[in-house]
Amino acid sequence: MKITEITTYILKVPLGEKRFYSSQCAFPERNSMLVKVETDEGIYGWGEGGQYGPAEPVKCVIDQILAPMLIGQDPLDKGILWDQMYQSTRDYGQKGTYIEAISALDIALWDICGKALNVPVYRLMGGKKRSHVASYATGCYYRGEDVLDIDTALPALQKEAASYVEAGFEMLKIKVGLLSVEDDAKRVRAIRQAVGDDVKIFCDCNHAYNAYTAIRMAEHLEEAKILFMEEPVTPEDFDGYRRVRNATRIAIAGGECEYTAFGFQKYIAGGCIDIAQPDICVSGGLTEFQRILAVANTSGVNVIPHVWGSGVALAAALSAIAAMPLYPHTANPVPFQNEPVIEYDRNFNPLRDELLTENFELVDRKVKVPDGAGLGIDINMDVLKKYCVQ
Ligand code: CA
Repeated sequence: MKITEITTYILKVPLGEKRFYSSQCAFPERNSMLVKVETDEGIYGWGEGGQYGPAEPVKCVIDQILAPMLIGQDPLDKGILWDQMYQSTRDYGQKGTYIEAISALDIALWDICGKALNVPVYRLMGGKKRSHVASYATGCYYRGEDVLDIDTALPALQKEAASYVEAGFEMLKIKVGLLSVEDDAKRVRAIRQAVGDDVKIFCDCNHAYNAYTAIRMAEHLEEAKILFMEEPVTPEDFDGYRRVRNATRIAIAGGECEYTAFGFQKYIAGGCIDIAQPDICVSGGLTEFQRILAVANTSGVNVIPHVWGSGVALAAALSAIAAMPLYPHTANPVPFQNEPVIEYDRNFNPLRDELLTENFELVDRKVKVPDGAGLGIDINMDVLKKYCVQ
């Protein structure tokens, strides 16, 4: 089999009134980049990358540098192709745009391999450890009015948090970091009050803090029985991560802005995190995910993949999680405790909910792992054209 054509698509959906904010920025639109890899046998694969920032540089790396390298090669050699892409761009790549581009292509190559062998990707990754993955609702972002007056914003926030629990979610991830520690602590307490004590709550800071402020925030999070604190400090601040982790009983999560096993190894060997959160579309694709998982588990660190993007990103994460071993093994696995979970962002996202020919199935807030060959999904080209800007 030979790769004959590689096409990139930049997708954008303006959010209008549904815009939302993290501690770092506003999200006025959903954007991503999909790549389609085609072969001389008619089999094609889909991959995704470039969802964090502008997708144009990722598209450029694929179109101009990596695609010409892959055309004519056998997609079943996916590991060798990964290495070739990485080695040939190492001197100026290693992180960021180049690894996102490699990630997108790698996911598409796994999709092709699965289809060529007529097995789901999770079979190629080790087998089907689970058919459904417990999901946590990501929500309670800032809506804008919270910055002006936190007290008047709290009722709507509580209503939003309660709506996830009413919808059956037993785990939530909420945002902190945009406001003062005191005002954000009010938000966290209000959410805890709204959902009750039994709901598992995780807290995402989007690296808003220095170490001493993160430690102050962690005290409030401990009181509210938050289970993990995500990206407390900037991704480059390894010492800060360690200081925060040593100062709190809350598990520390991080890594959505980190790349490859080389990058994760620094967090893990440095004692920075309890939970590694590689984004499969960003950190090196499914090939690199297996290495990151190996590095993490050999050092006692759990892995919860970060998911942000279209249905292709979610399908790639589900395929990887389906094959993940329990860490550690117990006879009665508990979601988050040792059973892997999946992030299910609750903000408006037509790139996840409209783009695929068949949507994801949720059963008791567990997302069914697609069972078709490859990633088990396909793209509705009419919807893709509707949102494609380039
Ligand atoms: Ca995050």
